[in-house]
Amino acid sequence: MNAPGPALPVFSPRLDEIMDAMIKGSIPNIGRFCGYCYTPVGKRDEACGHCGASLAEWPPLDRIPQDAFALYRRMRKRESLIVNSFAFAGLGLGLVLFIVLAWVAVYRMDQSLWMLAAATAVFIVGGRVFAGLLGGWIGDSIGYDYAHRKLAVEWAEFERERDAARASARKGAPAPENAAAEPR
Ligand SMILES: [Zn+2]
Repeated sequence: MNAPGPALPVFSPRLDEIMDAMIKGSIPNIGRFCGYCYTPVGKRDEACGHCGASLAEWPPLDRIPQDAFALYRRMRKRESLIVNSFAFAGLGLGLVLFIVLAWVAVYRMDQSLWMLAAATAVFIVGGRVFAGLLGGWIGDSIGYDYAHRKLAVEWAEFERERDAARASARKGAPAPENAAAEPR
C-alpha cells in the first residue's frame, strides 16, 4: 500500500481547497474523510486516495477535527505574513525610488515640476508593481515553502499526540495478534 511519507503534502490539494471553503463558511464540515490525513474519501473506498491509509485501520470521520483546522490556519497565517512582508518591501522600494527622483527634481533639475510628477507616478505605479512582484512572486514561493515546512513539523507533533491518544483508547481492548503497521 502507498504509505504516507515525507514526499506527500500534509494536506492534499483537495483537502486544502475544502478546508479553505469551510473556514470561509461556504461549505459545511460534513462528509467522509480519511481517518489518517482527512482527505475526502468515497463511500466505497477502502483506502485513502491521498495517503493510502487503509480505512479499516483508520476509520473515516464524518467531519474534519478542529485540531486540523488549527494547523491549517497557522500554515495560512505564516504564508500570508511572508507574502505581505515582501509586498511591503516592494512598496518601500517604490518609496525609495520616489525619494531619489524627488531629490533629483529639487536639487539637480531646478525644482522641475515635471520630474516631481514623474517621481509621483513612479511611486504610485512602481509601488504597486514592486509590491505585486515581490509579494506575488518571491514572497509567494518563499512563504509557501516556509509555511509548508513548518506545517510538516507541526503535523509530526500532532501525529505523535494522536497516536498516543489512539494507543490509550485501545488499551483494554484485546490487542490484535499481528498489529497492522501504522501507515507512515
Ligand atoms: Zn488519507
